[in-house]
This record gives sequence, C-alpha cells and structure tokens, in this order.
Amino acid sequence: MSRQCEAPGRYPATVPSYTAASAVADFQRNHALVTARIEAACERAGRDPAGVRLLPVSKTVDEARMRAAVAAGMTGFGENKVQEAKRKSAALADVPGLSWSLIGHLQTNKARDAVSFASEFQALDSLRLAEALDRRLDAAGRRLDVFVQVNTSDEESKYGLPPDQLTGFLDELPRFPCLRVRGLMTLAVFSPDPDAVRRCFVRLRRLRDQVRDGAPDGVGLDELSMGMSGDYEIAVEEGATVVRVGQAIFGSRPTPDALYWPRDGV
Ligand SMILES: *Cc1c(COP(=O)(O)O)cnc(C)c1O
Repeated sequence: MSRQCEAPGRYPATVPSYTAASAVADFQRNHALVTARIEAACERAGRDPAGVRLLPVSKTVDEARMRAAVAAGMTGFGENKVQEAKRKSAALADVPGLSWSLIGHLQTNKARDAVSFASEFQALDSLRLAEALDRRLDAAGRRLDVFVQVNTSDEESKYGLPPDQLTGFLDELPRFPCLRVRGLMTLAVFSPDPDAVRRCFVRLRRLRDQVRDGAPDGVGLDELSMGMSGDYEIAVEEGATVVRVGQAIFGSRPTPDALYWPRDGV
C-alpha cells in the first residue's frame, strides 16, 4: 500500500503528485510554499509559527540536488537510513553548519555510524538501542538529541513503542546520560481519511500531556515530531513542533514508502 496523498476535504495534497524539483529556484519555491502552509495552519490553531520546525527530508536526493537545497537556504536534513545519511554528510563536509537528523529505524550495530555524524535521532524505540547509542556517544565525548517513536496507529508496524509501554520506557532513560530526550515522534496511520490521520496526532499529543509531569528529571517532552508531506498541516493544527517533509520540497521519490517503514504483509 502506498501513502495516499490526495486527502479529501479540507486537506488536498500539498503539491499534487509532487512535481519534480532539482534547481535552487524549485527548492526555494517549494520550501516557501510549505512554510506558508505551516503558517496558515498555525493561524487556524492559534499557534506561533516560531514553534514549528520544518525538517526537510532528503532521502534519495543526490549530492548535486542536496547542494541546490543548501543554496536554497536549507541547513538541516532528515534522512531515514544511516548509511545514506553518513555518505551524504561526508560528501557535503565542505559545507559549514549542516546538521543531520536520523528519522528512521536504526539497528543497534549501526549506533557507532549514527553517532559519528548525526545531531538528532528521532526513532528511539528500544532500550538496547538507547544503551548502544549512549555507549558510543560516551566514547566519542558527544551527546545526541533523541525523540521516542510511538506507534499511534495500531498498525502492525515493526517500529515505534506501543503507547502503553511509554511510561516504563521513559523511566529507564536517565540511565543513558548522553541522550538528551526532547520529545515524541510518530507516523500517522496510512489512510486517505484525514480524521483517521488526525486521531494519531491527537493521540501523540495527549500521550505526551499524560506522561510529561511524571517523566524523570532531564527527560524533556516539549517536542512532538509528526506530519509529513501529505499530512503536515493537520499535524501542525494538533501541536507538531517538528514536521518532516520530503516530497513536497524535493519532488516525488523513486522508491516506495515500504522501503522505509515496512509493515507486516508489505
Ligand atoms: C521519508 C520520511 C518522511 C517524509 O515523507 P514525505 O512523504 O517525503 O514527506 C517523514 N518521516 C519519515 C520517518 C520518513 O522516512
């Protein structure tokens, strides 16, 4: 199943079928369009747009197009796969001030690679991985911003913590002092129904509100990373502080989504 971007009703696709983009001007235009839509969603929700970070997701975007994106003013990128991200961070090492967010599932044996270049990891969902990251970070004398990924869709996703395990999980995180816990992250249900999508975002926000007061000292839960090209406006209305937007900025991807968030039967 592929993600349905043409949501009916008030929320048409941000860029219908995500037209190809490769020149600096394309990226500037798309980035400005997404930013304007974020601002409009903030206006509807009575929020300050300064409280929403747009994270451009550059997976499958090659080096030349990455450089065009940088020329268009983007300085931080989200990547799903650690090897691709590491390769790009090395290729763009001559560009000062770039930062890299890993937003996809990470295998424990890739922790060292991740720690070598990433400044943020948004898909923490196991203590084994937390421990591996913390050990590598300690050895490197570094710290890492992390988001705990929660499965809010009840889909048979392999990734993300079941909501009922969140409190117990957060209670363990002070054992890993090199991880700076910033908040929660989720992927909404894969549905063309905007109400079903919205329910996932509402669920993440409510979960966060429930667990925030009881969370251990040092475990910050201010951030909510939710919303992508097809649903970021809904996410902003429901409290997203980070939206992860790829195709609406970079154009359609050649690879299927199932490569990035495999589910049973996909
Ligand atoms: C690719 C990806 C996104 C962005 O998806 P688009 O449809 O390109 O906006 C968001 N979150 C995660 C975890 C991703 O892998």
